[in-house]
Amino acid sequence: MTSRTVRWLLAPVLAGAVAATGMTLLNPLQSADAGAAKGKARNVIFINGDGMSAAHREAARLYLAGLDGQLNMDKLPVSGQLITTPHDPKSPITDSAAAATAWATGEKTYNGAISVDVDHNPLPTLGQQAKANGKATGLVTTAQVTDASPAAWFSNTENRSAQDEIARQYIEVSKPDVILGGGEDFWLPAGTAGAYPDHPAEDPSEASKGTKGNLIDKARQAGYKYVSTADQLQKAKGGKLLGLFSNEEMFQQRPEGQGDIYNPVVSLATMTTKALDTLSSNKKGFFLFVEEEGVDEFSHENNATRMLQSMGELEKAVVVARNYAATHKDTLVVITGDHDCGGLTVEDTGTSDESGDGISAEDGPFAIKGSNLQFNLDWTTSGHTGVDVPVTAYGPLADQFTGKHQNTYVHDVLAQILTR
Ligand SMILES: [Zn+2]
Repeated sequence: MTSRTVRWLLAPVLAGAVAATGMTLLNPLQSADAGAAKGKARNVIFINGDGMSAAHREAARLYLAGLDGQLNMDKLPVSGQLITTPHDPKSPITDSAAAATAWATGEKTYNGAISVDVDHNPLPTLGQQAKANGKATGLVTTAQVTDASPAAWFSNTENRSAQDEIARQYIEVSKPDVILGGGEDFWLPAGTAGAYPDHPAEDPSEASKGTKGNLIDKARQAGYKYVSTADQLQKAKGGKLLGLFSNEEMFQQRPEGQGDIYNPVVSLATMTTKALDTLSSNKKGFFLFVEEEGVDEFSHENNATRMLQSMGELEKAVVVARNYAATHKDTLVVITGDHDCGGLTVEDTGTSDESGDGISAEDGPFAIKGSNLQFNLDWTTSGHTGVDVPVTAYGPLADQFTGKHQNTYVHDVLAQILTR
């Protein structure tokens, strides 16, 4: 046995002893990051790579950072795993609604539920509780702003498809200070096209379809500044902000080469920057939910090229959040996914495609940054799977994310900051 082996064998014993005494084991390489843990927690930036599992993160690491590189989202000093199973009578595999309800309320529920329990009773949400506690709140997403993942923090409905009702609750009930993303179609009644025309060439099925009146007008009356272009967003100052930048998602979810588009009129990073500028003026702190939806939706299409592009945009938003937290030591940053999508894995290019053509066909090859090597991505499904998702964190309370937990545990940690 070499001395190196002895050291490795001792390491778990040491870690166990440290954990038992309640001390935090710090990696000296990350001491600068760990220093942030000394701040008193006041703000939370919670980031969702929708549909993002370990395989998506590894594929993006090879593609964007190279063999020995590291993604910014993986550089956060604390990491753990989350179990994503819902309490659904028909399925052990979660959707985004049940997963986000677990985060926002601490309760497992059925697929499609927006912060209601298995008996359809509304549950208190962290977004609403943070507001009641004097904090500013906001949501930023490349999906519809009323899509399931942001909705669970700020509304209660029995069915995730009631996006116009979710928009109504935003304006009349939960009142997040910042709402930025897509989904104009649910804020306007049929026949009122809005800033983004009905039936556009890239997707003729898109058209205004709300049943709750003109909610953009109602938002203005409630004190929101409404913007619909990058220029207007840049110029908007202070107060409450509603930005809607597409009819539906801020991209077109299609298989590769069949009308797939990822070209948002404002980037996720730009929206995140604006949200932080706006929310950070609140003296009692803030809660901000940030989401890249393209990771999930392009995985549903088994479109790895666009999935990797979405991961790159998510990375840029992570940098914005991480840089903010580096100079605001009272800010917890958490990044995870709500579930896997696609049953993705990373493979060598030298082997044949064992799983054959069709929906489970291989994608690639993709170049590894800074190397002449390549990798393939192989899908097993066009749906979600039940594998764990990684969670990484930075700042005060981040160390609570070590280990493997149910996704409801996110609620339990964030509640320590947002409900008191
Ligand atoms: Zn999905």
